[in-house]
Amino acid sequence: MEKVLVTGGAGFLGSHLCDRLVADGCDVLCVDNFFTGAKSNIAHLLSNPYFELMRHDVSFPLYVEIGKIYNLACPASPVHYQHDPVQTTKTSVHGAINMLGLAKRTNATILQASTSEVYGDPEVHPQTEDYWGRVNPIGPRSCYDEGKRCAETLFFDYHRQHQLRIKVVRIFNTYGPRMHPNDGRVVSNFIVQALRGEDITIYGNGEQTRSFCYVDDLIEAMVRMMGSPDELTGPINIGNPNEVTMLELAETVLSLTGSKSTLAYKPLPADDPRQRRPDISLAKSKLVWQPTVSLEDGLRETIAYFRRTLLG
Ligand code: NAD
Ligand code: UDP
Ligand code: UDP
Repeated sequence: MEKVLVTGGAGFLGSHLCDRLVADGCDVLCVDNFFTGAKSNIAHLLSNPYFELMRHDVSFPLYVEIGKIYNLACPASPVHYQHDPVQTTKTSVHGAINMLGLAKRTNATILQASTSEVYGDPEVHPQTEDYWGRVNPIGPRSCYDEGKRCAETLFFDYHRQHQLRIKVVRIFNTYGPRMHPNDGRVVSNFIVQALRGEDITIYGNGEQTRSFCYVDDLIEAMVRMMGSPDELTGPINIGNPNEVTMLELAETVLSLTGSKSTLAYKPLPADDPRQRRPDISLAKSKLVWQPTVSLEDGLRETIAYFRRTLLG
C-alpha cells in the first residue's frame, strides 16, 4: 500500500483529502498540531487501520518513512494566520524545509498547497501562473503571502538542486463542509450569520470579487496533480473561475437559507484584494480537470453542514 503523509490533515481541506486517500486505498498518516484543525474533522477515520494520526508541528523536523507528501499545514484564514504571524511564517518556511528534507531522504513526491495569495492584489485579471504578483512584503497579510511565496521558492530550489519530484498547486478560495465556523472567511461568516439571523457583514462596498470552488472539486484536482507525470511541477492554478461580488454572494446565501438577516457594511481590511479569478487553462489541459459543482449546489451542502453542527 502506498504510504501518504498529509500535513494539516485535521483541517478543512486536509480532512477531505484524508477521506479521499483512505477511500482510494492508501495508508494515510495525518500530521497536525491542531492550531486550527479539529479532531471532529477526522474522528470518523480513527478506527480505520489505514489511517494514523500524529500530533506534531511541521516547523520541527519529522522522521517517518513515506512515499508521497501533501503539505497543507498552515492556518489559511486571515483571522487565524494573523493571530501569531511569526508562527505563520515559521510554519510555511520551516515547515516547507522540513517536509522537503523528508521528501529528499525518503525519495517521496511532495505537493505544496500554495495559494492565490501569491498574486497579492493583482493587476492581471484573471490570474495566470506566469503572473508574478503584487504583494505587500510588510503588511498584516504578508506573513501568509510571503511565507507561501518563500515555500514555493524552496520547492523549486529543492527541485533544481536535489532533483526532487515536486507539485505546486495554487489554490483559490475554496469552501464546503468542515470550514471553521469562526475563522472569519466570507462563506462561513455569511452562512453562520444568516442561520443565526445576525447581520451579514459586508467589508467595504461589497463590490470586490472572489471565485469560490467547492471542496470536492478541489480535492479531485489535488489528487490528479499528485498522479501527473514528473515533468508537471506546476505552479498550477486550481479553483473555480466563476467570479462573484461579495454582495452577490450575500444575496445567494440569504436566498438559500431563507434568512431575514440584513446587510451591515464594515471597513475593508488592509490589503484586501479587489478582484480574484483563476485562469485554469493549464489545469484543464494538463489535469483534464475543471470544477463541476455550481456555487448554489456547493452552498446548499455547506449550509446543511452548518445547520447540523451549529443548530443541532
Ligand atoms: P485549515 O486552517 O482548516 O487547515 C490547516 C491545518 O493545518 C489545520 O488542521 C491546522 O491545525 C494545521 N496546522 C497549522 N499549523 C501547523 C503546524 N505548524 N504544524 C502542523 N499542523 C499545522 O485551512 P484549510 O483551508 O484546510 O487550508 C489548508 C491548506 O490549503 C493551507 O496550507 C492553506 O494555505 C491552503 N489554501 C487554502 C485555501 C482555502 O480557500 N481553503 C486557499 C488557498 C490555499
Ligand atoms: N528533515 C526532516 N525529516 C527528514 C529529513 C530531514 O524533518 O526525514 C529536516 C531536517 O531537520 C533538515 C531539513 O529537513 O533541517 C532539511 O533537510 P535537508 O536534508 O535538505 O538539509 P540539511 O539536513 O542538509 O540541513
Ligand atoms: N468579507 C466580507 N465579509 C466577511 C468576511 C469577508 O465582506 O464577513 C470579504 C473580504 O473583505 C474579502 C472577501 O470577503 O474581500 C473574501 O474574504 P476571505 O477572508 O474569505 O478570503 P480572502 O480575502 O483571503 O480571499
